[in-house]
Amino acid sequence: MNAVARHKDSAVFDVLVVGAGPAGSCVAKLLADGGASVALIDGAKFPRFKSCAGWVNAKAFREFPFLESLRSRAKAVPLRRLVFHSPDLERRAEFGTRAAAGFIVRREKFDTELLRAAVRAGAKAFLGRRVVAVESGEREIVAVLANGKRLAGRIMVGADGVHSTVARASGLRARWEPDQLILCQSKIVPLTGRQRTACFGPAAIHVALGFGMAPGYAWAFPGGGHVSVGIGLRTDDGNRVKTLYDAWVARLNEKELLPRGANLANPDGGAIPAGAALEFENHVGKRVILIGDAGGFASSASGEGIYPALLSAAVAAKCILKAVAADRAGHKAIHCQDELQTFKHLWRQHLAAYLQMPNVNVTFLLPLIYTNQEIADRFGRAFLFGENL
Ligand SMILES: Cc1cc2nc3c(=O)[nH]c(=O)nc-3n(C[C@H](O)[C@H](O)[C@H](O)COP(=O)(O)OP(=O)(O)OC[C@H]3O[C@@H](n4cnc5c(N)ncnc54)[C@H](O)[C@@H]3O)c2cc1C
Repeated sequence: MNAVARHKDSAVFDVLVVGAGPAGSCVAKLLADGGASVALIDGAKFPRFKSCAGWVNAKAFREFPFLESLRSRAKAVPLRRLVFHSPDLERRAEFGTRAAAGFIVRREKFDTELLRAAVRAGAKAFLGRRVVAVESGEREIVAVLANGKRLAGRIMVGADGVHSTVARASGLRARWEPDQLILCQSKIVPLTGRQRTACFGPAAIHVALGFGMAPGYAWAFPGGGHVSVGIGLRTDDGNRVKTLYDAWVARLNEKELLPRGANLANPDGGAIPAGAALEFENHVGKRVILIGDAGGFASSASGEGIYPALLSAAVAAKCILKAVAADRAGHKAIHCQDELQTFKHLWRQHLAAYLQMPNVNVTFLLPLIYTNQEIADRFGRAFLFGENL
């Protein structure tokens, strides 16, 4: 990491990070570690709810060692088996791993621990402070907060999720196209250890690819003390997602795959910009950069967004530290901008392959996974590790 000397003037931060989800807290920590003065701003007070199934890729813990210490505090539960169900739930196939392939967390806990790591590294948190407007000038960029206060920085990171205000306010994206989003309905309900073993088996998550003959999948991800049940589809018809969510819950109940009496009514809606980063013209504007969901960094195939959010944060942190150093040295603003622009090529090197759809005919291969273990293993690796089919 390119270390820069800490900025003395607290009135202007080196970096304003908007959004303290995995992308924002990770970039804030890495920037603070690199010596930058960082304001980490979130509209919510933590712990806050985030609609999510809570699966975090094992790669995240390997590649970001500081996450290791968070794991037990976030009560992460290891997963070693992925059970695929046919859409009618009559057939199943399994993919197993010896080491943990990932962990199931409660986002409230995981995100709060990440935020704490950023603050411990030196980032200053502004929580319960929603950013409503962005003003970018020649020498600085300003976040206008809902309470009318203003925070100034050399650079701003838009890590404010799928409905990013920073993306809109900075002119980098007006809206998502409907086909860029996976629409979800999901709910988290309590689960005892005994129910977990009885319904789902040890260390397993369950997925029904193509449930309802729809483009997406339904899931049941049990964690420590809870299970997330949901469905995500590539469709602009929200009603269809809700209807299929109800059908998924009914089918799981028929098959006794849910704890008796679990109240799965009134699910939460959500959207994932799966693979949308690949279609972005540019993630970098004047003194601003988009990462995580705000930049469309989620896997096309699985909708996995936490690991890609962390990766986009790590790549951005490298570019931003160089941009801050150029700005502090008093170079022309264009030098700072040039350093930021290196993100455009760097993220593609590190992330593009991970975000892409498998380049084979999935519809043809899918029915084979219930009879052919090799195909099931290929689907398992594609789903859990982002490998190509
Ligand atoms: C139903 C569902 C299930 C999912 N399951 C998984 C899963 O199991 N595994 C996985 O890897 N991914 C999953 N995802 C995707 C994953 O949740 C996201 O990709 C991930 O949260 C992206 O992180 P982020 O930091 O970019 O954004 P977020 O986690 O959304 O954080 C953005 C933060 O910005 C704040 N914010 C927003 N606007 C403003 C503003 N104007 N001012 C200040 N703060 C603001 C918000 O309060 C929030 O804290 C799921 C998504 C959904 C919808």
